[in-house]
This record gives sequence, C-alpha cells and structure tokens, in this order.
Amino acid sequence: SPHVAAEDRYDSMTYRRCGRSGIHLPGVSLGLWQNFGDATPLERQRDIILAAFDMGITHYDLANNYGPPPGAAERNFGAIFARDLGPYRDEILISSKAGYGMWPGPYGDFGSRKYLVSSIDQSLQRMGLEYVDIFYHHRPDPETPLEETMGALDHIVRSGKALYAGVSNYDAANTEEAIRILQGLGTPMLIHQPRYSMFDRRPEEALFDVIGEAGVGSIVFSPLAQGLLTNRYLKGIPAGSRITHSQFLNEGQAQNTVYLERASALNDIAAKRGQSLAQMAIQWVLRDDRVTSALVGASSVEQLRDNVAALSFDPLTGDEIAAIEPYAVH
Ligand code: NDP
Repeated sequence: SPHVAAEDRYDSMTYRRCGRSGIHLPGVSLGLWQNFGDATPLERQRDIILAAFDMGITHYDLANNYGPPPGAAERNFGAIFARDLGPYRDEILISSKAGYGMWPGPYGDFGSRKYLVSSIDQSLQRMGLEYVDIFYHHRPDPETPLEETMGALDHIVRSGKALYAGVSNYDAANTEEAIRILQGLGTPMLIHQPRYSMFDRRPEEALFDVIGEAGVGSIVFSPLAQGLLTNRYLKGIPAGSRITHSQFLNEGQAQNTVYLERASALNDIAAKRGQSLAQMAIQWVLRDDRVTSALVGASSVEQLRDNVAALSFDPLTGDEIAAIEPYAVH
C-alpha cells in the first residue's frame, strides 16, 4: 500500500534560503545520478527515496541521462513517486537537466533550444509529472550562443514545464553572463549546481563570489567526492562500492598514498568531533552560506541517515577549519 509520510518529517531538518529567492532547500538533498537505474532493485530505491522524505529531504535531483540506462532514473523515480508521493507533490522540489548526450543525431546533446525543449517534455513523460520545480542546463555548450540556451530555459519556465531555471558546471564568467541574460528575460536564475568538496575547491576561486553577489543560490554535487570523503575506502575496496561499478571513479583514486593519508587525517579530525568523515565533509561545504544545499548520493538508507545527521552537529570552529585546510586540496 502507498507510503504514509512520517508526521515528524519537518521537526529536525534544517532549511536554507536559496540565494535571495523565495525558495528554501534542505541542508542535505538527494541526487539520483547513481543507484537509481535499472541495475538497482526498485524496492531499495523506494526505501531510500521514502526515507529521505521522512527525514525532511524535500528535494530530489535528477537529469535526463541518469540511469543506467539513460532515462531509467527518471522512470524509476516516476513509478515510486506515483505510487507513494503523489499526495505530497506540493511539499517536494524535483529537478531535472539536459546538456549531455541523450539521443542520437544533432539535436540530442549540448545546448540548443531544440534539445532543451524536447528533453524537458521527455523528462516529464518519464516521470509522469506535469512540471519540474527546477530545470537546469547541465553543462556549458561552447558553440550555442548563451542567448539561445537561456532563451530556452525562459521559454520552458513560461510554458509551465518548470518553475525555476538553473545552470550546472558553468564557470564564473559564463555564469555571470547567463545571470545577466536571464535577468533581462524576466526569469532570474534560481540556482547553480557546481561540484564542490574538500577535494575540489574550484568554485571558491570566483564562482561563489559571482552567485553570492547576484543572489543566486547553489547546490553542490559530490560533496563526498563520490565516497572518497567517507570511511568507505579507508581499509580497501568494499564489494558493491561505487568504485567497483562506476566508470567515473577508479581504484587508483582510492589506493594511492596521497589520498589515503589525507582521508585518514580528515577521518581523525572528524573522530575528534565524534562524527563520521561524511558528516564533517557535509558540514564543511555548508560552512559557506552561499552554499544552499549539499547534494549527496546514497546506496543505502543508513548512509542517508548518517549524512542528514551531519546537520545536528555544532558548526565547524575556525580552529577545526584550519586543521582541515592542509588536507582539503585537489
Ligand atoms: P556523493 O559525493 O555524496 O557520493 C555518494 C556516494 O558516497 C554514495 O553512492 C556512497 O557510495 C558514498 N556515501 C554516501 N554517504 C555515505 C556515508 N554516510 N558513508 C559512507 N559512504 C557514503 O555524491 P554523488 O557523486 O553521488 O553525487 C550526488 C548527486 O549530485 C548526484 O546524484 C546528482 O544528482 C548530482 N550530480 C550532478 C552532476 C552534474 O554534472 N550536475 C555530476 C555528478 C553528480 P557507495 O555507492 O559506494 O555506497
């Protein structure tokens, strides 16, 4: 029978304002890039998605190509949503994206209006939704004029297929320009989705200043560096871990001595705080209020619980942030 959401779901989650918008996001949001394709049993996916909502996670992040195969995560999420979360639609923010290769031929990739408008229709159909809350251009396109891509986002919002627009993986200069164009069109950019963690600090160079000044929020992906900033790989490579099945993470990254020294030093600092490395990594990205939400993945409900519990610890002190500094490098 359909899930009945926990009555206390809003009692302990922390919500943070997204830039200067009217939207608040949970401190921890759930991404469906990995672990929600057709290789993962639907019951496990359902457990994680419903546990998330019961913990106050009101935001699920998807994209047209999440799977495997591409499209599967949206289809699986849509099936679970229809069965269990339909009555809660107005309590939930769902995002999708287009920008990476999705279908053959010249119109299924990058940033044309043709691609984005077709793709949002496909995503809505796969998820069985009338609209998404946030629609992103997934990555910059070196060829298509930003006016065309931002015009497509504006059109998608005006046609009611998305409530807000965002960009992902854009550098500071492109972001500044995209913000200006969207402003002119009357569809302000809500949010940026960059990669940010102790192991990738590029957004600190200029991007966070650009969005901070413009009042645009951010949701940072892979804050746990895909599991490298957790206890997962401190003692070898566990069966079933992402490294064993993903082409985006490899054994060399978890087995070299530089990584192992940094991760165990960080793990020791976290242990002194009485928390897991994953929890400290989440608090670290959220120490900057220009970061609205930490966008995590999870292969189990336990991992997700551990991550959400990060929000109930005291913030990192200046001394702790300084102690982390030598190990928080690319
Ligand atoms: P994370 O850095 O949070 O990595 C998640 C992985 O870390 C899990 O699959 C799990 O690995 C491990 N993990 C999570 N929590 C714990 C824990 N408490 N203890 C131990 N291990 C843990 O993020 P992702 O790389 O998964 O990315 C998150 C989301 O960001 C994606 O789902 C997607 O929505 C978005 N994203 C966006 C991109 C973009 O271009 N815009 C690109 C990449 C991601 P294991 O599976 O081994 O158990």
